[in-house]
Amino acid sequence: MRLLEYQGKMLFNQYGIRIPRAYLAHNTDEAKEAAVRLGYPLVLKSQLTVGGRGKAGAIVKCKDDLEMVTKFNELVHKVVKGELPHSILVEEKVDIKKELYLSLFFNRSKRCYSLITSAEGGVEIENVENTIILDIPINGVLSAQAIENVSYKLGLIGNLTTVLSFSDFTIKLLNLINEKEAELAEINPIGIIGDGSLIALDAKVIIDDNAMFRHPELKKYQQISELEAQAEKSGFSLVELDGNIAIIGNGAGLVMSTLDMVSDSGGKAGSFLDFGGRATTETIYEALKVISKIKKIRAILVNLFGGIVKTNLVAQAILEAYKNNVIDIPVFARITGAESEKAKEILRGSQARLYDTVEEAIYAVVKEVHNNEIK
Ligand code: GDP
Ligand code: MN
Repeated sequence: MRLLEYQGKMLFNQYGIRIPRAYLAHNTDEAKEAAVRLGYPLVLKSQLTVGGRGKAGAIVKCKDDLEMVTKFNELVHKVVKGELPHSILVEEKVDIKKELYLSLFFNRSKRCYSLITSAEGGVEIENVENTIILDIPINGVLSAQAIENVSYKLGLIGNLTTVLSFSDFTIKLLNLINEKEAELAEINPIGIIGDGSLIALDAKVIIDDNAMFRHPELKKYQQISELEAQAEKSGFSLVELDGNIAIIGNGAGLVMSTLDMVSDSGGKAGSFLDFGGRATTETIYEALKVISKIKKIRAILVNLFGGIVKTNLVAQAILEAYKNNVIDIPVFARITGAESEKAKEILRGSQARLYDTVEEAIYAVVKEVHNNEIK
């Protein structure tokens, strides 16, 4: 998951990395309020997950209310690389003497963190010739000597404030990437201000999706899709994934372990749907409707353990969904627990295929989507 600039900067702030004063605005009223607090000149920064906003005209300076409102209204409607902004960050314009580049990323091939820095900031790192690279072992510490060495190569050594500030930024960014299990934490540019100290003018942070469940504090940054929002309204939780098998069950733990088993068997989950404990025939019917709108889904795996949820209600919903042509893809179901005999009776003769164990159901669903792909 790539965080937006303002979200990355909130993390920077938590880790003590200095950022400009700024407020997030969704409309011109909020932007004007921010302007009163910050004073002019200001920079308006479109909050997008795509890079190269500067070049695309999505970062603009303004000197007074009139200019700010005009540019704000342009920015909120400005599509960059197919994306509309989430919001606009209204930020104080910092006076800088020089720009640097600094990033840390998880280096998969070397299984370590790699630091990349350059005295040419503000441009895309791919276009920079003089970069300095330093590998840092996982859980290893960055020695004062190593940082000093990098500062020297960057040409910062003449100013003690800058050297100390650079070392401070590097250590804090390393703490952030370690603790948040980030794949990348990039500051481009870091601005050097009048007194020689540093400030992060931009933030790009990518969190490892597979580690998200260990960081509930980051969940608020996850942008949910339209279907996920619809699911939330209907009282169940849906997460869209990359694969083609929809996984449905009652209880997050059950659905998650089913997901792991599917992936161990060579299948790929396309969605994760937990309808919780309060499901009725209607809500499950709604859930199937939502899943039918995810185009890439080829089969549905239902793993039900009847307890509070009566499994016959779920079966009824599946039957009706088939009858009304809400779904036309195969359902592979393992149903046990409360009312499971009734549930099986309801589904007998329908297109749903029933299995006694979850392993059998998974084996069958993975085989089915695999055969479909070959055809
Ligand atoms: P990006 O193009 O998507 O990477 O967006 P950035 O946030 O990096 O902004 C683009 C450029 O605008 C930066 O490289 C800076 O040169 C410049 N910029 C952004 N904020 C400020 C600021 O507060 N002061 C100054 N002087 N320049 C800024
Ligand atoms: Mn940038």
